[in-house]
Amino acid sequence: MSVQLPSLVRQKELISNYELILTRVKDMAVKASSGRPVDLVAVSKLKPSSDILTLYNHGVRHFGENYVQELTTKAKELPKDIQWHFIGGLQTDKCKLLAKNIENLYAVETIDSLKKCKKLNNHRQEVNGAVINVYLQINTSNEDQKSGYKLTEEGKQQIFESVEFLLSEECKFLNLEGVMTIGSFLESTEAEAENQDFKNLVNLKDELNEKYKLQLKTSMGMSNDFEDAIKQGSSSVRVGSSIFGARPPKNG
Ligand SMILES: *Cc1c(COP(=O)(O)O)cnc(C)c1O
Repeated sequence: MSVQLPSLVRQKELISNYELILTRVKDMAVKASSGRPVDLVAVSKLKPSSDILTLYNHGVRHFGENYVQELTTKAKELPKDIQWHFIGGLQTDKCKLLAKNIENLYAVETIDSLKKCKKLNNHRQEVNGAVINVYLQINTSNEDQKSGYKLTEEGKQQIFESVEFLLSEECKFLNLEGVMTIGSFLESTEAEAENQDFKNLVNLKDELNEKYKLQLKTSMGMSNDFEDAIKQGSSSVRVGSSIFGARPPKNG
């Protein structure tokens, strides 16, 4: 393995940050429900492989990445039993790279069209790869600049169409695991009320579970709002900066 570990000081910092977040996740999961398990995905985008290896050695397996090229590089040099979550904006022409290059891709959480479902499935089939879990990304705040299926009449039809493809015989290389949202900044800073984005996502999940007899998960909650998300029913939180520290700006 060519990846080196960082300084001992950095290793200790990463492990203690991770443990702190994990404790908060577990505490809130207990408070919010009768111990329903909540997954913690460590979002490592723009952070070095040495940081990831530190947490891997500590037992962590689920890591989230946002950029296809960066994920490809990291997946190549890091242990093959890491379970990668792709959580970045997904361009149609990048589905092929993800499906073909990342053998240990656990999940793609940012599916937002039927076309991308088909591309991902077909290219995974070409390499006869392991099944990829997918989450449909929902634009729960209907913001135009945000990606994801909208919760309009038209958006709902697209969601149903994608779900039906994912559940069909034709789609053997993808497993529909859940729905995902990135809450709007406003919703996560208005501490008073329930977060409407999280509520919208849970309502959609319930509707799909009912309509298609499924048990979908919800991926919602990041560093600044994961406890609220768990309170409102999240099954998987994606935490980056509270574990790894502030990120450098992305260039290029
Ligand atoms: C970066 C990112 C995260 C982690 O954000 P933090 O605020 O650093 O915890 C979670 N989800 C998505 C989709 C992201 O892009």
